[in-house]
Amino acid sequence: MSMTRREWLKTTAGVLGAAALLPRSACAAERERIVVWRNWSGAQTCIPAARLAPANEEALAAAIRNAVGAVRPVGSAHSFAPLVPTDGSLISLGNLSGLISHDPQKLQAEIWGGTPMSQLGEPFKKIGQALPNMADIDYQTLAGAISTSTHGSGVKFGSYSSNVVGLRLITANGDALDCDAQNHPDVFSAARVSLGALGVVTRVRLQNRSSFRLHRRDWMQDTEELIEDMPRLMRENDHFEINSILHSDLSLATAQNETHDPATLPKEQGGDRDKVALLRGINTHYRDSPRIQAALLSFAGKHLMSFPEARDDSYKVFPSVRDVRFNEMEYSIPAAAGPACLREILKKIREQNLDSFIPIEYRYVRADDIPLSMFQGRDTCTISIHQYYEMDYHEYFAQIEPIFWKYDGRPHWGKLHSLNARLLAPLYPKWKDFLAARESLDPGGKFLNAHLRSIFGIDATAPGSKS
Ligand SMILES: Cc1cc2nc3c(=O)[nH]c(=O)nc-3n(C[C@H](O)[C@H](O)[C@H](O)COP(=O)(O)OP(=O)(O)OC[C@H]3O[C@@H](n4cnc5c(N)ncnc54)[C@H](O)[C@@H]3O)c2cc1C
Repeated sequence: MSMTRREWLKTTAGVLGAAALLPRSACAAERERIVVWRNWSGAQTCIPAARLAPANEEALAAAIRNAVGAVRPVGSAHSFAPLVPTDGSLISLGNLSGLISHDPQKLQAEIWGGTPMSQLGEPFKKIGQALPNMADIDYQTLAGAISTSTHGSGVKFGSYSSNVVGLRLITANGDALDCDAQNHPDVFSAARVSLGALGVVTRVRLQNRSSFRLHRRDWMQDTEELIEDMPRLMRENDHFEINSILHSDLSLATAQNETHDPATLPKEQGGDRDKVALLRGINTHYRDSPRIQAALLSFAGKHLMSFPEARDDSYKVFPSVRDVRFNEMEYSIPAAAGPACLREILKKIREQNLDSFIPIEYRYVRADDIPLSMFQGRDTCTISIHQYYEMDYHEYFAQIEPIFWKYDGRPHWGKLHSLNARLLAPLYPKWKDFLAARESLDPGGKFLNAHLRSIFGIDATAPGSKS
């Protein structure tokens, strides 16, 4: 007898759920049959004792309550930092996906936390709504994206977390906590960016806007000219960013603006494989001849790469297809420091001839008031560096990271960095508010792994206590 995909998923969820309830020795036996978990870049791995995909919130609450060892929620595994790895239970909301309800007057919508961002555009369009801004990709889940303060670019636009007006958290003891600005406001404030350390977010209520079309234009220009002109470019475009080509004087500029023109230029869904291959080829063959390398990169950027214009529904235009894997470090610095920081990074890469070829991404994000948000209390410039996934990133990232520190940088929670609680705490004025919320919701440290213990300064030998 054949099974539908849904029946298969439900059965699988049940079997995996049962594995979580087995005694430790039985779990060890099960482990032999459990597939290794890897993040998108492949740099983070773990072998969880159980992988759970509960069919509903009741099953999720029972799984959390009965779990032996740590519990880590996982979305689409698109974080570079080791937020997810655990040898305990990995919980996915793959079965809790889609639009739950909406309010046409307030332009708000309630969505299951496991919904991939790529599955929001069409249902939102049907109810006349849209996300005000989007990140570079749409592969993340909604709960995963808000948990790390995922963002796009635009001086008037905050992160996804800043659009959250309510959410439901399933806590360490299996309780469902509905919170917003009126109900459990302290938990709500902290839970908008929580790294999965407060519980599992099952439902999210978003403040959307009316659906709209977006016009996207890309062009190559001298990096220094773009930096000089940045205040105007940021002011005059809804969404603006640059991607600076390493070891060259060129950057790709991208401007995206709301348009009322018809959707006559559908976005091509091509990925970045060919362009990255070209940059990689030049890097491989001409690294030791910087002048030739710079000249070839300039020629390639101006004459061999094309970037078709797009004018289509916003959710089709915002996201890119990233089919070349990499590892990434991103820091958020005060907006005014952006140009100086970018110049210093590019200079360092040139002078040290650092071995990398994936462009640097430079964006702006509006300030918010969320305790653990990288954008808390300040308008921000974000700068990201990348390393091709087959190349070691440690040396390159270690050379650049101190430059971010000089500019009062806060690391993106979902990306690679080397900071621990001692260095992170002074960067966040509301740090203690978050720690207090975490301690009250999960005193036993059920939702912690080694990385989170290091970030929050919590000793592994004394769950819940500060080291
Ligand atoms: C190619 C690429 C492009 C990217 N572009 C951007 C970008 O433009 N802007 C940006 O800001 N970031 C970007 N990122 C980073 C990415 O958006 C974040 O790391 C995001 O958190 C990943 O979401 P995810 O669904 O994959 O979650 P995961 O990586 O699986 O998990 C992220 C965090 O969320 C927690 N979590 C997941 N589900 C839940 C839940 N239901 N309840 C509670 N906690 C949960 C996890 O425990 C973990 O702490 C990019 C990453 C990649 C690989």
